[in-house]
Amino acid sequence: STTNKVAVVTGGNRGLGFEASRQLAKLQYQVVLTSRDEAKGKAAADKLQAENLDVTFHPLDVTSDESSQKLAEFISQQFGKLDVLVNNAGIYIDEAGNNSVLYAKIDTVQQTMETNVYGVLRVTQALIPLMKKQNYGRIVNVSSGMGQLHDMGGGYTGYRLSKAALNALTRIFASELQGTNILVNSVCPGWVKTDMGGANATRTPEQGVNTIVWLATHADGGATGGFFRDRKPIDW
Ligand code: NDP
Repeated sequence: STTNKVAVVTGGNRGLGFEASRQLAKLQYQVVLTSRDEAKGKAAADKLQAENLDVTFHPLDVTSDESSQKLAEFISQQFGKLDVLVNNAGIYIDEAGNNSVLYAKIDTVQQTMETNVYGVLRVTQALIPLMKKQNYGRIVNVSSGMGQLHDMGGGYTGYRLSKAALNALTRIFASELQGTNILVNSVCPGWVKTDMGGANATRTPEQGVNTIVWLATHADGGATGGFFRDRKPIDW
């Protein structure tokens, strides 16, 4: 058990999830870095431990009920509570070109929804009881400007649809948790140099996680049901 706040990050083995794990650990959070690939996840946690950070690895495939339940049991036994959940794991499946809505394969769209939307729903459902029992929780859903209805563009069909749905899911969770101290928000990290963002992206992972960490560490009474970029609310 620990007196520190406990944070789970999904997709923590690389990219934004890895950097969010590092930054939260630097703020003295006990971080459970999760990854669907055990070897990659352990290597990532080892790297942060070598920086003297308190990071534990646990497997999590967000598309699996069993894996999500096992994580919840582990957190319950090890820490008895959960303070922060960063739903970061996400995929973009490139089908050659920009995945026009006229040609996008339904199967690709479904797979994308499975990870980016149902994955978040599944993991959040599994872990929220560990927040409810202490009436404290910060849930940060890593979304994207590509899911903004406000200026929805074409292409990237499955990805856009998944992030728009993720934003809706954020609002539904926030509504049901209104009046509690569990805050649920979406964030667009900007265009970040990761495997997904590519080498031409304009932001470093450290810049990309800034608003994620800010929302994860929100004071009581902070925003809930919002969508943020650069620590400011943006249109849905
Ligand atoms: P990466 O592709 O670098 O990392 C994605 C992470 O998600 C990996 O750790 C990957 O694991 C993990 N993941 C994928 N599927 C699953 C699964 N089923 N279960 C568990 N983990 C899984 O991407 P980024 O770091 O760039 O992206 C992180 C988030 O940020 C995503 O949600 C993305 O949509 C969002 N985002 C990124 C932007 C950018 O410019 N980079 C812009 C806007 C939003 P594995 O290594 O095993 O594949």
